[in-house]
Amino acid sequence: VSDCCATGNALAEGSDGTCPGCGARGARVDPVTLKALLTAEGLRRGVPAFPRFCATRDCPVVYFDDAVPVRFEEDLLTVRVHSKHPEDERVPVCYCFDYTTAAIRAAAELRMPHAASDDIAREVKAGRCACEVKNPKGSCCLGDVSKLERNVIAGAPAARAEER
Ligand SMILES: [Zn+2]
Repeated sequence: VSDCCATGNALAEGSDGTCPGCGARGARVDPVTLKALLTAEGLRRGVPAFPRFCATRDCPVVYFDDAVPVRFEEDLLTVRVHSKHPEDERVPVCYCFDYTTAAIRAAAELRMPHAASDDIAREVKAGRCACEVKNPKGSCCLGDVSKLERNVIAGAPAARAEER
């Protein structure tokens, strides 16, 4: 009757870290990230010991552990996941200090294209970030923010500043 003994050979051979939703390899995240960001319903599924994060844009799965197996879709999280909605400018890219693509674009229009990454780097250096419990990917956002800033600089027409 108990599932706890079912994690035997049959399942172990499928445990190569690939997402059950899209087949991409997921990065390992600390279980504490799931504990912080899952809804009540998500928590009831049980936080696995070795969860992985799927960043694939159109894949509904956010976390999984194929050794259990268990999976968590985005509606079981209390936040929306940036890598699942790269086109939605209101979804945070920095969850600790609340930067969205819209905020990064606004700063670029004020000729401060690196304002977000400069600010985040300062706070990280001061030890004030909380990526493992705030960011669904469970790690620092700085690389993603810098990449977004480069994209905004490359793609944002100067005329946008006059639109408001
Ligand atoms: Zn996936």
